[in-house]
Amino acid sequence: MFKTLEIINENRRLRKKLNEYERQYPPKECPVCGYKGIDFMPYPQIIHKEVKCPNCFSQERHRATWLYLEKNEHLLEKGNKILHFAPERPFYDLFKSKDIEYHAVDLYSTNPLVEEKMDIQDIHYDDDYFDFIYCSHILEHVPDDFKAMRELRRVLKPGGIALIMVPINGVVYELPFDESKTHEDENINTPEAREKYYGQDDHVRLYGSDFKERLLESGFNLLSDDFIKKLGFETIERYALLRNESLFECTK
Ligand SMILES: [Zn+2]
Repeated sequence: MFKTLEIINENRRLRKKLNEYERQYPPKECPVCGYKGIDFMPYPQIIHKEVKCPNCFSQERHRATWLYLEKNEHLLEKGNKILHFAPERPFYDLFKSKDIEYHAVDLYSTNPLVEEKMDIQDIHYDDDYFDFIYCSHILEHVPDDFKAMRELRRVLKPGGIALIMVPINGVVYELPFDESKTHEDENINTPEAREKYYGQDDHVRLYGSDFKERLLESGFNLLSDDFIKKLGFETIERYALLRNESLFECTK
C-alpha cells in the first residue's frame, strides 16, 4: 500500500518537473507534419541548432513557408498557375491536392518529383503566366542569378507573387566574410572550396544582406521580407524557425 502511494507521489513529482521544464523549454512543433518534441536536429554548417524535424526532416525554411501558405490560401485558389523549382515532397503533395495548374520543375531530373526539365535562366513559358512561383534555395546554385531573377519576374503575372528564399551569411551561415555583401569569387571553384567558403559544395556564391538589392535591381518590387519576424517570438520558438530569415515576397 505504502509502496503504491510512493509510486504515485513519485509520478506526480516527475510530472511537475516535466511541466516546469516544458514551460522553460517548450517542445517544438512541426507545422508540416504535426510532430511535437524537443529533439529537432542540427545540420552541418548551419548556425541554428534546431534545423530538422526528426519526423519529416523539414527545415526551418520549409516550416516557415508552410505557415506562409496557411496564411495565404488564396495563392492556391482553383485555376491558379503555380511554378515550383526543385520540388520538396510536402509542398508537392499540397500543390497536387489543389485544383490548380501545377508545374514541378528542375534543371536536373534526379529528383523523382520533377515533371519538367527547366533552366531557371531560360524559362519556357510566356510572359505574365504564373500566379505563384515558389523558388527556395535555388539561386545560390545558379551561375547567372540576375538572369534567373529577370526570368522569374518575366513569367510572373502582375498581381502574382514570387516567393524567393536564399541562404544568407549571418542568418543561415556564419562564414568569415562581410555579411552585408554577396561573396562571389571565380577562384572558389572546387566542391571543397565551395563547401568551405559558400557553406555547401554546390553553391556558386554566398549571399549577404544585399540580396534584397539584387532582387530590386532585377526589376522585382518587394511586397515584404519580414513574414517570420511578424509571427512573433513565441511562434518563432514554437516552430523552431530562424528569426532573421526572410521570405522575399516579390511582385511586379
Ligand atoms: Zn515535421
